[in-house]
Amino acid sequence: MNLLRNIPPIHELLNDNKIAAEIEQHNISYEEAKQSLQDSVQSVRNEIRNGEFLNSSLEDLFNSIIERAVKQIEQHKIHNLQPVINGTGTILHTNLGRARLASQAIDHVVNSASYYSTLEYDVTTGKRGSRHDLVERYITNLTGAESAMVVNNNAAAVYMVLSCFAKNYEAIVSRGELVEIGGSFRVSSIMEESGTTLKEIGTTNKTHLFDYEQAIHSETKMIMKVHTSNFYMSGFTSSVDREELASLAQRHNLIYYEDLGSGLLYNLSDQGITDEPVVKDVIAKGVDLVSFSVDKLLGGPQAGIIAGKKEYIDALKKHQLARVLRVDKMTYAALEETLRLALTNQVDQIPTLRDILKDSNTIRNEVMVFLEGTKDLDPLTLEPIEMKSKVGGGTLPEVELDSFGIKVRCRVRTTEELTKQLRTCPIPIIVRVENDSVMVDFRTLERHEQDEIRKALQELNNRLK
Ligand SMILES: *Cc1c(COP(=O)(O)O)cnc(C)c1O
Repeated sequence: MNLLRNIPPIHELLNDNKIAAEIEQHNISYEEAKQSLQDSVQSVRNEIRNGEFLNSSLEDLFNSIIERAVKQIEQHKIHNLQPVINGTGTILHTNLGRARLASQAIDHVVNSASYYSTLEYDVTTGKRGSRHDLVERYITNLTGAESAMVVNNNAAAVYMVLSCFAKNYEAIVSRGELVEIGGSFRVSSIMEESGTTLKEIGTTNKTHLFDYEQAIHSETKMIMKVHTSNFYMSGFTSSVDREELASLAQRHNLIYYEDLGSGLLYNLSDQGITDEPVVKDVIAKGVDLVSFSVDKLLGGPQAGIIAGKKEYIDALKKHQLARVLRVDKMTYAALEETLRLALTNQVDQIPTLRDILKDSNTIRNEVMVFLEGTKDLDPLTLEPIEMKSKVGGGTLPEVELDSFGIKVRCRVRTTEELTKQLRTCPIPIIVRVENDSVMVDFRTLERHEQDEIRKALQELNNRLK
């Protein structure tokens, strides 16, 4: 306990040369330096109480405090939002930012953000324009819808559609579709929040047309279908076809709306990946409104698209929530270019689609070339391994893509220590752990990221030697 009393006061620590040099070098404020030292003293105190530093001198203690504070001060130069390398094999990793953008989309963002732009300006007339016009034509061309608009994300789209058309009334949803996505989006909660009464019908595995018919009464405004994107039900199940629901809604003067979740724009059935229908097919069945995410299978920035009949989209555009949920020029820029790539058949330029479609032989070759260039490591060992990638982001849950990667082992470190080491690389490398092994799936790795991993592994190997 003597040690605890001998920890120097903060003002004394602040005068240390190393700290002074850090303050100078990183241009940090006195307050920040003080905070770092306080945090550092606190962590050393805790360790002393846990029986550490027992045989340490006062000088050791002092150095330890300074060292930790310096480390924390150096962290100030690193952004909180920093790039990472996704070696998990999950293409749309929600925690890692879902879709990464096409380089053309990034260029368009940078350009639109550096200059003033025509966000709400018509250069032909010199008058005010509407941001809704920026991407509507692309979306209607791609989906066959009469009209479309963009909001903050698909959760916002659901909220807005319900608020605008079913507030204080009822919307009918099958119990089999009352999904929760990523723990924070629950269809039933969003409905409640929007002021819409949820009319649940059917059972978890079966809902029939007569369930819908029986639920309709004077307070009903909408029939809603929710895509069960993040789980896959097989076996004794049945749901009602969208044509039947669309025509039922029409007969009763109701709106038929589908929350499609990921919103597939390109047919992936030819590649044998999924037979999920594309948005165009859904619209063609007579659905009044659909909504879907932009940063899932479309491979764009975070946003949500609402598409469908013009009279409904016009009402949505005029609603006060359109202002609340609108997106920024950088989102429009990224979205416009992503949609343009899709319309001009340059889907291979969109990283999400490129990675979904990458064939396992190509990935295997990349792994072999990588291993050829990363030989003779010890204590680390690398070996090629067959893996299965997931699309992720709550999309296509039944799909497993054949892939390839490396298994990283280390004689002198546990799996947990190894993954931690990889997370502390200059560009943190996030790996997959399966059966207590560290694995890196190459599906989502661009060439420069593979080089980065090679460098990181070589450095790690040298450190552990
Ligand atoms: C992902 C998803 C949402 C939420 O979309 P965000 O763009 O993440 O807000 C809503 N509904 C379904 C069915 C989804 O799959």
